[in-house]
Amino acid sequence: MERRDVIIIGGGPAGLSAARRLAELGVAATVLERDQQAGGVPRHCGHLGFGWQSHRRLWTGPRFAEQLRADSTALDVRTGHTVLGIDGNVLRVQNQHGINEMAANRIILATGTRETPRAPRFVGGSRPRGVTTTGALQANVYLQNFKPFACPVIIGSEWVSFSAILTCRHAGIRPVAMIEAKDRISAPRPGDLISKLIYGVPVWTRTKLTAIAGQPQVEAVEIERHGKRERIACDGVIFTGEWVPEAALLVNRPKVTLAGNVHGDLKTSGACWREGRAIAEQIARGSA
Ligand SMILES: Cc1cc2nc3c(=O)[nH]c(=O)nc-3n(C[C@H](O)[C@H](O)[C@H](O)COP(=O)(O)OP(=O)(O)OC[C@H]3O[C@@H](n4cnc5c(N)ncnc54)[C@H](O)[C@@H]3O)c2cc1C
Repeated sequence: MERRDVIIIGGGPAGLSAARRLAELGVAATVLERDQQAGGVPRHCGHLGFGWQSHRRLWTGPRFAEQLRADSTALDVRTGHTVLGIDGNVLRVQNQHGINEMAANRIILATGTRETPRAPRFVGGSRPRGVTTTGALQANVYLQNFKPFACPVIIGSEWVSFSAILTCRHAGIRPVAMIEAKDRISAPRPGDLISKLIYGVPVWTRTKLTAIAGQPQVEAVEIERHGKRERIACDGVIFTGEWVPEAALLVNRPKVTLAGNVHGDLKTSGACWREGRAIAEQIARGSA
C-alpha cells in the first residue's frame, strides 16, 4: 500500500493552497482530486470576483483556478482520483485503473460544499428537465457550453443567486424572476435593486415555490405570493444556496482536519485559500 505523509482530499482553493504551503515548509503532501482538472468550483465561475485575497489580482474563476494550478506544478496533484471512503488513516481511492488503498499520517479534507438540489427541498409537481443549481448551471454554461433553458425562475436570494443571474446573462438566458420565501433578500439590500434595474430580473419576496409543472421540460412553476397562488410560465428552475458540506467521507468519523468550505458555510475562495495555508502551517508545526 502506498504511504504518504499528508494526503489532501480535494484540489480546490483550500486543498491546493494547503499543499503548496506544506511543500514550502518541507512537508510532502499528495492532493487527490476527483475531477480531471484541479481548481475546484472557481473553474466554472465565469464572473469576476476571484484572486484578490490570495494574489492581489481581480480575476474570473477560471483564471484564478489556472493560477492555482500554475502554483501547484511542482506538487503531487493526482486528478481523476476519487476518495470513496476513509477508515482510520487508510483511504479507498478510485482512479481509471480501479480501486486502491493509500495510507497517510495526516489527512486534510477539503471537499467543499454544494447547494441543496431539488429533492431535499420537498417541492411538488412533475420531474421535468431544466431543474438545476447555480453550480450545475455554471458547469453547463462555462465548461460544456450548454444552455439548459431560456427563461428560468431563480429560487433563493443569497450572494450565489445573484451570480446565477450573471451566468444567465453570459449565456443569453433571461430569468423571469428571483423568488424568496422570507420578507427580505438574504444578500445585502441593494442586490434586489441591482437585479431589477440593471439586469431586468424582478425579485419577489414572501414568495414560495410550491410545485414545478411540465414534461419533458419545465413549463411553469406554481408559487404562493403574499398568500395567493399563481402559475408562472418558465422553462427552468435554478435552486440556489442552502449550502450542504460535501462531508460524506466523515461517516466513519475518521481523524481528519477540515479545510475550506467543507465546514459548511460558503466562504470566499480567498478565505478558503488562506485557511488552507493556515492549516498547513499548523500541521508542519505539529499543532493540528
Ligand atoms: C456559484 C458560485 C459562485 C461563487 N462566486 C464566488 C466569487 O465570486 N468569489 C469568491 O471568492 N468565491 C466565490 N464562490 C465561492 C468559492 O468558489 C469557494 O469559496 C471555493 O471554491 C471553496 O474552495 P474549497 O477548496 O473549499 O472547495 P471547492 O472549490 O468546492 O473544491 C473542492 C474539491 O474537492 C473535490 N472533491 C470533492 N469530493 C471529492 C472526493 N471524494 N475525492 C476527491 N476529490 C473530491 C471536488 O471535485 C473539488 O475540486 C462561488 C461559489 C459558487 C458555487
